[in-house]
Amino acid sequence: MTEAHAELVEFIHQYPRLLVLTGAGISTDSGIPDYRDQQGQWKRQQPVQHPDFMRCEHTRKRYWGRSLVGWPVMRDALPNPAHNALAQLEQLGHVSLLVTQNVDGLHQRAGSHRVVDLHGRSDRVVCMSCDYRCSRNDTHRRSAELNPDFTHYTAATAPDGDADLEVDFSRFRIPECHRCGGILKPDVVFFGDNVPKQRVVNALDALEAADGLLVIGSSLMVYSGFRFCRKAQEWNKPIAALTLGKTRADALLSLKLNASITPLLQAALHGLNAQ
Ligand SMILES: [Zn+2]
Repeated sequence: MTEAHAELVEFIHQYPRLLVLTGAGISTDSGIPDYRDQQGQWKRQQPVQHPDFMRCEHTRKRYWGRSLVGWPVMRDALPNPAHNALAQLEQLGHVSLLVTQNVDGLHQRAGSHRVVDLHGRSDRVVCMSCDYRCSRNDTHRRSAELNPDFTHYTAATAPDGDADLEVDFSRFRIPECHRCGGILKPDVVFFGDNVPKQRVVNALDALEAADGLLVIGSSLMVYSGFRFCRKAQEWNKPIAALTLGKTRADALLSLKLNASITPLLQAALHGLNAQ
């Protein structure tokens, strides 16, 4: 055993029922890029802001226009061995709840059952006026039908079903709610919006009942994730973080594993299974 995964195995032995919090770093091996570098700084232009999306038609045209190119990458992404490792960790009884900041649904596809999608799900769409819900694929199809001229573009993939496409979006036709004509939005908590309160309460209840907190692949720069570390500290729960680079909670950690996620998780599982 290398030292790092032995430390993780030891942590799991000491604190066998964990609340696991995952971030973008766990999905990058599935081809979904993340927003931040190892210093926790923005790698790229900041994503769409909720108030701007709600207020500005041009922002929505640009959002759905870029999504026409970007969504298929997210839609077709597959779970990677790190997702599989966490599903196995749940089977071993070590995951009381998996709270993910990702909106890709890949934990569920890998077989994890106890999952809270803290920031929502990019494969679902909701009407902001009448709460009508449909699948992202439906909206994507309608968007393509409304905008055949926009379906031929290619562009670099950006996080969360976005793409780096900069063209004139003024003629883009936004797919609207076909029940009430309202604004459709992916069922995702955009930057500048709040996580629904009950979702936070449920996740924090699980943290309070857990033995410790294990953070994987997150720099914790967003408060909705960092809050779990603050609460863990308040409740005297140990915190381990497996993530490459800096996190906002480094000062609060009992165990910091600055390592590649997949090999370390696989080695730790091997260690747990061997015992
Ligand atoms: Zn509606």
